[in-house]
Amino acid sequence: MRLAVTEPGAPEIFHSLQGEGVSAGKPSVFVRLSQCNLHCVWCDTAYTWNFQGTEFHHRDDTPGAPRKYDRAQETVDRSVEELTEHLLALPCRRIIFTGGEPLLQQRELGELIQRLKEADPSFYIEIETNGTISPVGLAADLIDQFNVSPKLAHSGNDTAIRHKLETLRFYANDPRANFKIVVESPPDLEEVKSLVVETEMPLSRVWLMPEGRSTQELQQREQWLADACLKEGYNFTGRLHIHLYGDTRGT
Ligand code: SF4
Repeated sequence: MRLAVTEPGAPEIFHSLQGEGVSAGKPSVFVRLSQCNLHCVWCDTAYTWNFQGTEFHHRDDTPGAPRKYDRAQETVDRSVEELTEHLLALPCRRIIFTGGEPLLQQRELGELIQRLKEADPSFYIEIETNGTISPVGLAADLIDQFNVSPKLAHSGNDTAIRHKLETLRFYANDPRANFKIVVESPPDLEEVKSLVVETEMPLSRVWLMPEGRSTQELQQREQWLADACLKEGYNFTGRLHIHLYGDTRGT
């Protein structure tokens, strides 16, 4: 499987508190897989996809100097067997596969989850996904929780690639799935409402989260977004890890 790294050769696997959404505050082991099928301009893990030789734009670009990452330095491969051994040796049984987009590697992911659960049925497995890919096979059956984060227009992705309505309806129908939607400014709330209605997401499983990679950016958006959540019936989530650790890898 292809993973992101904290430093060349070291897979980004770390123990921390979940910072966002329904599991916020829970101690978890994060496994960050590399590669993504979307290219959000504000992505805080662009090192999983914005590699040299690509033409994707990111807000860290400066005129004449796009911010690009070296694919060979930013990725590392580990077998399902190696990852099983690594995760079994850690003290925490809540595992969150994040990315990038983890479901791009769902065949291997399913095998890994099966091995983990066979070794210790107490493993609780969460997948963070952008909601464009449906789980199949083992990945569909063995995952305990999906944290689905569909992207809005401000992400910079075309509608056709960021909104797969049938896939979002699949998640809306699955009680294991919770939705976390990143909001940048008040006009985004209209797009949220349309998406929620069109895909029949139950409001009780929808969290709105302010966009921001620093405490200052988040604080500028938290108050009006919290007010909107109260008014419209959405759940609110901040980004606990940003407040605690800043925008750093491995946290
Ligand atoms: S879907 Fe997630 S990982 Fe992919 S580009 Fe967007 S924010 Fe980054």
